[in-house]
Amino acid sequence: MNIAIIGAGYVGLVTGTCFSELGNNVFCADNDERKIAVLKEGGVPIYEPGLEELIRKNMTKGRLKFTSDIKEAVRAAQVVFICVGTPSREDGSADLTAIEKVSKAIAESIDSYKLIVEKSTVPVETGEWVKKTINTFKKNTVEFDVASNPEFLKEGSAIEDFMKPDRVVVGVESKKAEEIFRELYGPLGTKIVVTNIQGAEIIKHASNSFLAMKISFANALSNICERTGADVNAVAEGIGLDKRINTHFLKAGIGFGGSCFPKDLKAFIYIAEKLGYPMHLLEEVEKINDMQKTLVIKKIKELLWNIPEKCIGVWGLAFKPDTDDIRSAPAIEIIKMLLAERAHIKAFDPAAMKRTKEELGDKIQYCQDIYDVAKDADCVILMTEWNEFKEIDWERLKNIMKQPVILDGRNIYDPDKLTKLGFRYAGIGRKNKA
Ligand code: NAD
Repeated sequence: MNIAIIGAGYVGLVTGTCFSELGNNVFCADNDERKIAVLKEGGVPIYEPGLEELIRKNMTKGRLKFTSDIKEAVRAAQVVFICVGTPSREDGSADLTAIEKVSKAIAESIDSYKLIVEKSTVPVETGEWVKKTINTFKKNTVEFDVASNPEFLKEGSAIEDFMKPDRVVVGVESKKAEEIFRELYGPLGTKIVVTNIQGAEIIKHASNSFLAMKISFANALSNICERTGADVNAVAEGIGLDKRINTHFLKAGIGFGGSCFPKDLKAFIYIAEKLGYPMHLLEEVEKINDMQKTLVIKKIKELLWNIPEKCIGVWGLAFKPDTDDIRSAPAIEIIKMLLAERAHIKAFDPAAMKRTKEELGDKIQYCQDIYDVAKDADCVILMTEWNEFKEIDWERLKNIMKQPVILDGRNIYDPDKLTKLGFRYAGIGRKNKA
């Protein structure tokens, strides 16, 4: 099938590359000319395990191409996936101006039947607007379908998630659109949930909100555990091994971040309010998440007394392991709070250094590795649980730190072991070990 992908970011690049790997001809378009230039040269503008090899392979086979001309990509395609960003506005609503611009560009270039698919995460009723926009600006009577096909991939395991999804969700208004999706996704051999456009739009917002709610539930519990002597890791396992609940995303820590959960939660709260049913439940999820970040500052004060002029090391900057994405990353927000308290910050992340430099410039010190971070630090905070942060030479660490203090923001270290080694340890939802 001939496919156009509009917006070659985390979702668009992975979607386009995977569809080309499945044997389709894919044209990826983006209005960021620098990004397209990098891609045309065989480079990859984001860090995502396995993506570079797959892009190169499919470019060589001639099935994957890139352009900054959206109309060129649309004209060549039968199916057009809209994968542009839908960031938050000040008031929490989703900014859909990129979706509108792309819908207009599609309308101006449509010359034969096309299935136009919202893959970006959008609030319910966006499909109606896409349809209206295309009908308004279309210059002929060519037929088209609009559909919703939300994406559930996770950065860091995006290719695997795309190729082996738990399910594919499609919201359609015609049999023809459904059949195209069945042909496209057939090779994945996965269950396809077919509903209308509104249903598919809600499924995406509701999925992310539910996952965020699980994290906030674990975080709320962590505050109870901390006050009682229980360990939230054990409590979460005890709850999560019940199959009806499951352990995924039931993890206490410094809060969720990334480009999706915070923004989608806000957008869902906003649209629910607009529809006349305020989702207070989700407002609380957001509040608990914000509180977890302030809790880190409180814990640092408990561990170090005063923050000004203290040297604080940060392990991990990306919002989760195996990605370079720092959008709404708790690490970045916490660093900003610590800087406001006049701390000196040293940091390292295996993939997100470049993006952090773009965001924080020379406000912090960038290090070569975790030991470089710890050298002369009064405290080290584990912010992102990269695998390589799990095996530490604790003796070496203790000898190079100014004070042997660890704040384990993801509860991955053994408090008893660290205390025996002479560290002062604090986790989230476990009793501090002084
Ligand atoms: P991104 O910022 O990485 O990519 C968006 C791309 O769209 C950028 O390359 C940008 O240059 C391009 N773009 C913006 N306006 C454009 C326009 N008018 N014409 C052409 N290109 C344009 O964003 P992303 O993380 O890929 O997310 C895209 C959408 O997918 C969002 O709605 C997001 O919520 C959703 N989503 C993201 C993930 C994820 O893990 N990142 C997962 C599921 C769904």
